[in-house]
Amino acid sequence: QAKSAGRDGYRFFDPVLQSKLEARAALETALHGAIAARQLALHYQVQVNARLQPVGVEALLRWRHPHHGQVPPGQFIPIAEASALILTLGEWVLQAACTQLRAWADQPHACRLTISVNVSARQFAHPGFVDQVHAALASTGARPDRLVLELTESTMLHDIDDTVRKMQTLRSLGVRFALDDFGTGYSCLSQLQRLPLYQLKIDRSFIQDLGPQASDAVIVRTIVGMARSLGLHVVAEGVETEAQSKALAQLQCPGFQGYLFGMPQPAPALEAWLRSQAGTLTVVHSEPSIF
Ligand code: C2E
Ligand code: MG
Ligand code: MG
Ligand code: MG
Repeated sequence: QAKSAGRDGYRFFDPVLQSKLEARAALETALHGAIAARQLALHYQVQVNARLQPVGVEALLRWRHPHHGQVPPGQFIPIAEASALILTLGEWVLQAACTQLRAWADQPHACRLTISVNVSARQFAHPGFVDQVHAALASTGARPDRLVLELTESTMLHDIDDTVRKMQTLRSLGVRFALDDFGTGYSCLSQLQRLPLYQLKIDRSFIQDLGPQASDAVIVRTIVGMARSLGLHVVAEGVETEAQSKALAQLQCPGFQGYLFGMPQPAPALEAWLRSQAGTLTVVHSEPSIF
């Protein structure tokens, strides 16, 4: 049974680790076939402005496995990221999101929405990334100024010159960039300032403790103020309660996303919700400066 020998001659076999590795390998094999088997879908979660009007959505990848049911992205994205599979998945996501943007362009309640797409480090680092985005826009006819790409700090700061070049090329097409999970990384402001960013997304860990007597309010207030002085838009992630929403409004946070405003849902459900809101809300134009 022993799989390997240690340096000092001990042989070990860890059945728990072994079954984890086997489960992971099985998931990876299944994931390879997921696109062809049409098991992938994008769900969309609404983002609202300070007046609580819908201005955009985040596209979130969903995988329905025939036996395991819905596999959460936290489980399968890391597996895909460990291999070139993330490139195939990432391309599928971009194509699907741009196809949706083009379809919404003809719908009065959805035509002004932006779609934010999560981009993996490996996908962004790939030399073909800019072409991949370009191809998705061109083949679908989606408006580049409706597409927002979400990157994380570690993705952007890995090779900052390459990052700036890629971002500037896509910016010149009209594509915008958001920094996802902001506050969880270690980036210094001088580095971030070099990047042509549009938006910071405050990580939900900072939103969780916001309430009537919020100690984290200091952090959120600082992020909002800093973003404003840098000319960046801000979205608070993971807003679940009225108390959090009120606290954020008091801190003059300009954008919100979270279960309080809507769950991630398939496009038809989101469209129905937008139509039902249409009487009570006016969808406003989403432009780079909405302060
Ligand atoms: P993320 O980009 O930070 O996305 C936000 C996550 O928070 C989503 O989890 C969303 O469902 C969840 N969320 C939204 N509102 C709330 C709330 O009020 N409370 C709580 N507790 N959670 C909320 P999800 O869909 O499970 O995705 C997890 C992560 O997987 C994403 O984090 C993103 O990093 C990654 N991911 C999802 N779709 C894609 C994709 O298409 N490509 C890539 N590369 N990564 C993706
Ligand atoms: Mg995201
Ligand atoms: Mg993310
Ligand atoms: Mg996030």
